[in-house]
Amino acid sequence: MERAVVLIVGTDGEASVYPARPIITDIQYPQEVVKAMQSFKAKMSFRLKPEERLGAMRSLVAELAGVYGIEPPGVKTAGLGGRKGIYRNGVIYLERLSVITLLHEFAHAAFGTSEYKAVEWSVNLFRKVYPEQFEKLEPKGHTLVKKG
Ligand SMILES: [Zn+2]
Repeated sequence: MERAVVLIVGTDGEASVYPARPIITDIQYPQEVVKAMQSFKAKMSFRLKPEERLGAMRSLVAELAGVYGIEPPGVKTAGLGGRKGIYRNGVIYLERLSVITLLHEFAHAAFGTSEYKAVEWSVNLFRKVYPEQFEKLEPKGHTLVKKG
């Protein structure tokens, strides 16, 4: 069984506007956001079928959208020609079911086009909820990839 190893931040947009490195800050998150992430983490398993994982991602996005007071974006998978994710017209498109990419694209839905903000919000939230996985990543440009 193939394990998902893609933990690369979304690459929708011009590379030049991305921060040079993932941004590690002490950004604070609403308690409901952390709770939603923790229950998502508990639900997610690589034993789930892809459509079940997608369903869990849609539920997470709906919860996060509620916290930030935005219309819940749709979540779909699509071939993106090498991009990991895109947010467009109310829909998050993912090439693979990557949690970091999902969070990155959700941040665009909630906060707009700023890559700095999207990277800061998604990377630090991932780090907070998945500290053990985060340890296994290393920066490569503005993205995070598996060490080794
Ligand atoms: Zn982005």
